Amino acid sequence: PPQVNEDFGAIVGWADEIRRLGVRANADTGEDAAKARELGAEGIGLCRTEHMFMAADRLPAVREMILAGSDEERAEALEKILPMQQEDFEGIFSAMKGLPVTVRLLDPPLHEFLPDLVEQSLLVQRLDLTGGDADELSEARTLLSQVKRLHEQNPMLGTRGCRLAMLYPEIPEMQTRAIVRAALAVKEREGETATVEIMIPLVAYARELQVQRQIVEQTVADELEAAGEQMEVHVGTMIELPRAAIVADQIAEHADFFSFGTNDLTQTGIGISRDDAEGGFLSAYVSDEVIPHNPFESIDKDGVGGLVQIGAERGRSAKPGLKLGVCGEHGGDPASIELFDALGLDYVSCSPFRVPIARFAAARSVLDAQGS
Ligand code: PEP
Ligand code: MG
Repeated sequence: PPQVNEDFGAIVGWADEIRRLGVRANADTGEDAAKARELGAEGIGLCRTEHMFMAADRLPAVREMILAGSDEERAEALEKILPMQQEDFEGIFSAMKGLPVTVRLLDPPLHEFLPDLVEQSLLVQRLDLTGGDADELSEARTLLSQVKRLHEQNPMLGTRGCRLAMLYPEIPEMQTRAIVRAALAVKEREGETATVEIMIPLVAYARELQVQRQIVEQTVADELEAAGEQMEVHVGTMIELPRAAIVADQIAEHADFFSFGTNDLTQTGIGISRDDAEGGFLSAYVSDEVIPHNPFESIDKDGVGGLVQIGAERGRSAKPGLKLGVCGEHGGDPASIELFDALGLDYVSCSPFRVPIARFAAARSVLDAQGS
């Protein structure tokens, strides 16, 4: 009898013949990218680079980068991070063998990189009271004053996304260098040229994308010239704020593609915390008659779906044929996929294990629309 895997492959193969939507995966490591490939992903639609900064061996360098008191200190920290980032990108490009990879530049809620303000205050108090080591106390006090300087009341609405990159252009510059060097290294080693798309996070104003694009393009040009190589790099943006959807025509002028970040678009569109909608006090409200389902799992069609529609239409009105994807959690949810298909988006991107579900859902959406 045929193997389960073969049957599964055949069935999902039929779905692929029917569907119109592309299916990509969200992956931050070479292993996840390889898994995604195995499950049929046609590319990586979102590589969240901030996840690569979180590892215990990197956090000290990242803190140095954020807390740096001078340009020199920041440059030193970035020099340490660059080879680590390059290694990450090489793993992903190598696993994807020339398929498109959308690398999103750093999207930090700052508090995830820094010690907690209250904990740091308590540490200083404890060291002070116990009359501990003077150097340790002074170090803890310095860190506390730095953390206070960067503390934000609403980190999810603070210096996130491209806002940090606007303040410190050397960060997107370093990341772009690492991306280009990784692509060239993989090409030399494996003969396959990566299809690279660089994505700018949390854009609200066209000017942000214009500035970030300039930084990326200049850095790519410098790196390629130094290496004597040629390579095409596409630059696009997340559409994950209502303002970005509304002014999508202005933003499109500077974009090769859009990817709708429906997690943040839901958070900011409904004004509901994505970290509290499940399990917390707010979850009681989400399950009552006003909000019938968790809008972070299945898209709020009228509201957030309307913002996606506005963003898609206005983006394409300024740039016909603009490539449009979705990389929020909704990219792996069948009911949401049906909406994205109806809105004419080009692809969805979801966690690797959801790729087969997305392939089926995209096919079903076509069949449903045909009434079969
Ligand atoms: C989003 O907001 O939908 C998104 C994909 O970005 P993140 O989940 O990393 O904020
Ligand atoms: Mg987001």
